[in-house]
Amino acid sequence: MSRFYDIIVVGAGISGCTFASSFNKRFSDASILLVEYGRRLGGRSTTRKSRKNKNFIFDHGLPAISFSENISNDLFSIISPLIKSKKLIDITQDILVINEFGKIYHADSNEKVYRSLPFMINFCDAIISQSSNPKKINFLFQSLTKTIRRRNDLWELKINDKRLVNCKNLVISSSLIAHPRCLGILNINSLPLRDAVKEGNDKTIDSLLSIINKQEYIKRKNYIFYVSNSKTVSNFKYKYLQLYFSKAIRDDFNFERIIFQGQSDGSMIIVLHCFYINKFIGDNDNRIIESLMMIFCNQNKFLDLFMQAKLFDIMYWRASQPINNLVSKELQWSSISNIGFCGDWFDFEGCSRVEAAMNSSIRLSQLIS
Ligand SMILES: Cc1cc2nc3c(=O)[nH]c(=O)nc-3n(C[C@H](O)[C@H](O)[C@H](O)COP(=O)(O)OP(=O)(O)OC[C@H]3O[C@@H](n4cnc5c(N)ncnc54)[C@H](O)[C@@H]3O)c2cc1C
Repeated sequence: MSRFYDIIVVGAGISGCTFASSFNKRFSDASILLVEYGRRLGGRSTTRKSRKNKNFIFDHGLPAISFSENISNDLFSIISPLIKSKKLIDITQDILVINEFGKIYHADSNEKVYRSLPFMINFCDAIISQSSNPKKINFLFQSLTKTIRRRNDLWELKINDKRLVNCKNLVISSSLIAHPRCLGILNINSLPLRDAVKEGNDKTIDSLLSIINKQEYIKRKNYIFYVSNSKTVSNFKYKYLQLYFSKAIRDDFNFERIIFQGQSDGSMIIVLHCFYINKFIGDNDNRIIESLMMIFCNQNKFLDLFMQAKLFDIMYWRASQPINNLVSKELQWSSISNIGFCGDWFDFEGCSRVEAAMNSSIRLSQLIS
């Protein structure tokens, strides 16, 4: 059976949710469907509810959201109610750094850094609940889109290789189905966006595809450890802490930051963010703990935790953030094909990552009529 929506959004991360909520504020009767491969909202900002241990809930991707000093008015109108209601808390002053001499000090940043409470996934929930008519926003989770087709001026999406959904306007909030990395990840032979609109038929799509063809991403590997001894955990000063490694440590170990997250059963989850190519350590968790103990050698409370830390999982982020060839905002919407694009793969007036993702989504919601 095929269903029809005014708009279908591929992806329910921060961009997809920001787009859906902003568009719904403008056209509260328009039907929107978000098609998401994951089990819940959030994408790279999602929160893990462990299947291995039901007590563990923790953020294993985006740990905090940074906004520049001069954020746009539209973006401010989304985040200010969340700051007021303490769903977003300012942690700029709480972020620490450790240097190669084991000294810990406060990070110095020009940006404001926020954490979503209780977890990062709640940021997307909160954005969706700001919409005027949430009943018009529908979700399909665990639904992968590999094929999109343009037929009789409408879009048709094949979901999980069978179910068909149709729409007037299509929004792509993830670069995946337009980027060559999808060939390996989705095990397909050609780009779904290119298959849908052949070269020469739509200049916006041709330009967009040629730019992101060479877009590269930071690849990250996050090691997740847990400490079950609640006495050791309660002796540790922090229930939650984000700590960055100095440049010298980053260069030597590929460690970027480490996040300590107390759990409801008194245990602690520790997420170590590393760059993907870990020349020094590989996957050897004993070497990682030894290295952490070396770095924190004169910080007893940290050493107590690391001594008892056990590896829980490793999370591979093949595309954590784009590093080059960001797409210009002029290529966000094609009125020839009724297709729009948003996300952190856009360059939005100098801002990047989450801020660019949200700005591009708000702008796209204003371009479609
Ligand atoms: C470990 C890590 C650390 C980070 N640190 C920072 C930081 O400190 N500061 C910062 O600003 N940013 C950071 N980022 C980047 C930040 O998370 C992203 O910029 C932001 O989450 C982008 O949101 P998005 O909605 O554009 O994309 P995503 O979150 O990737 O959402 C896209 C969604 O689309 C879905 N999807 C894709 N293709 C399909 C398909 N074919 N069918 C169905 N669903 C599909 C995906 O499953 C995903 O849920 C970090 C990211 C990671 C992974």
